[in-house]
Amino acid sequence: DGTVMHVSNTEEQLRAHLSETGGKVITRFPPEPNGYLHIGHCKAMFVDFGMAAQYDGHCFLRFDDTNPEAEKMEYIEHIQEIVGWMGWTPWKVTYSSDYFDQLYELALKLISSGHAYVCHQTADEIKDSRQERQPSPWRDRPVEESLRLFKDMKNGLVEEGAATLRMRMDHKNENYNMFDLIAYRVKFAPHPHAGDKWCIYPSYDYTHCIVDALENISHSLCTLEFESRRASYYWLLEVLGLYKPHVMEYSRLNLTHNVLSKRKLKALVDEGHVRGWDDPRMYTISGLRRRGYTPAAINTFIREMGITRSDNEVPVHRLEHHVRMDLDAASPRVMAVLRPLQVIITNLPDDHYEEVVAQRFPGRKGDTYKVPFSKIVYIEATDFREVDSKDYYGLAPGKAIMLRYAYPLQYVDHKKNDDGVVTQVMCTYDAEFHSAQKNKKPPKGVLNWVGQPAPGVRPMRIEARLYDVLFKDPSPSELRDAWRDGLNEASEETLKGAMGCPELRKAKVGDRFQFERLGYFCVDRDTSADVLVVNRTVTLRESFPK
Ligand code: ATP
Ligand code: MG
Ligand code: MG
Repeated sequence: DGTVMHVSNTEEQLRAHLSETGGKVITRFPPEPNGYLHIGHCKAMFVDFGMAAQYDGHCFLRFDDTNPEAEKMEYIEHIQEIVGWMGWTPWKVTYSSDYFDQLYELALKLISSGHAYVCHQTADEIKDSRQERQPSPWRDRPVEESLRLFKDMKNGLVEEGAATLRMRMDHKNENYNMFDLIAYRVKFAPHPHAGDKWCIYPSYDYTHCIVDALENISHSLCTLEFESRRASYYWLLEVLGLYKPHVMEYSRLNLTHNVLSKRKLKALVDEGHVRGWDDPRMYTISGLRRRGYTPAAINTFIREMGITRSDNEVPVHRLEHHVRMDLDAASPRVMAVLRPLQVIITNLPDDHYEEVVAQRFPGRKGDTYKVPFSKIVYIEATDFREVDSKDYYGLAPGKAIMLRYAYPLQYVDHKKNDDGVVTQVMCTYDAEFHSAQKNKKPPKGVLNWVGQPAPGVRPMRIEARLYDVLFKDPSPSELRDAWRDGLNEASEETLKGAMGCPELRKAKVGDRFQFERLGYFCVDRDTSADVLVVNRTVTLRESFPK
């Protein structure tokens, strides 16, 4: 039972491999369909599809589907779709379960050559015997007996848990992963892809390397936690006489204030901490998509981070930086108000209506849209203070501000309700501002605002969803089993009274905008005829006027 630590293919194996591949780089992206993919998988895709693309090779999308209980058609369909959204095109889509017949035949071969045996130890017994480095009492049973029992397992004659097929490796090896790993388990569960044909299922350790060899993968790229399994990967291929791919490891991506594990993400969904896999607070790819992230921003983030072996927990703001850069270049500006405060312009007649011209992109002169300007307009409630101060550029008693693209407003008066909340501000506007007096300086503070689409008509309704990190703890995984304690109870704020200018009427689900001064927003699928629902992707770096 020698340990094989390096790749050594025979000349014959190499020749067969090259005749299949033409010498091309062949990789695979091998998700298990037991959940939705997260941003960590974007790194894996970048490595797998990216390396194939870089060397003019091919990359498989392979569903590593050997745990039928955890896997679902829903996940399979989603993964296929989201891989495409990220910009990758699989050369072929395959399933580990496509190879179940071959894997079974190879298991018979493995038993026959004395490299596997049927074992009756329970999971706990295996765990204990591993710790004590004690071999299974069934390790040296006759080959014929194992062959017969393994066939019984396949034919449904053995109960779940009563037997496993174990590889006869090197139980004295220092590497835990050489201790007679399990190759097959009995499981009376239907399979989402293979149907109800099987009641035994192969393990990851048994399957992954064999399917890599059968698919003629040239470079098998995986994350570092698999490094200690390299030995078993090569051991199995060696004893089966199969071609051995080149295995390379890279570090997993971790983001601060996040958990990136499908198991934990599923728990968040199942326990109702979020509204689903694509909740915009989740760093699943579908969550990021719904929030307004672009594949380009995600891929640029990963490229700049680099593919290395050093463990990295990347600050989440680095990802935000890239999406900001991408959205800055691509999203049209538009006027909206999140927490509206009514402003009455006292020197305008009730039925006044005009349209001012606003820029969709800074510096793109011809690209404009119209914003209605009326007697009643709305500014951000946070842009009014009852007490002015020197470094404050919003509206306050005695002060003037500029309505972006429109006119200066001069404070006159304001009203409060019984709770002391300011409900209305009265101002006068400077009608002459744009005409003769070119030497007039506009007020320093320039505010976003929304006017009425017609006199007396309320502006378009918007529901704005603002997000904070889902975990207030920077490294929730370090809390171990108590990772849920790191959750941020205030990760979402829903502003149902937000307003937008008529330009937003034609917005479609998935459209992205920069709401002036407020951040980047993406139209959510909860949008209805009555209300435009938007998710804030990310805030602007600078939140108050330049
Ligand atoms: P999870 O714990 O989230 O289920 P996994 O490793 O079991 O992760 P798979 O779907 O089996 O996920 O993985 C598909 C590929 O993506 C594997 O090559 C895996 O190593 C890689 N991968 C998963 N998570 C990350 C991550 N955070 N960073 C980089 N690669 C990852
Ligand atoms: Mg996995
Ligand atoms: Mg997993």
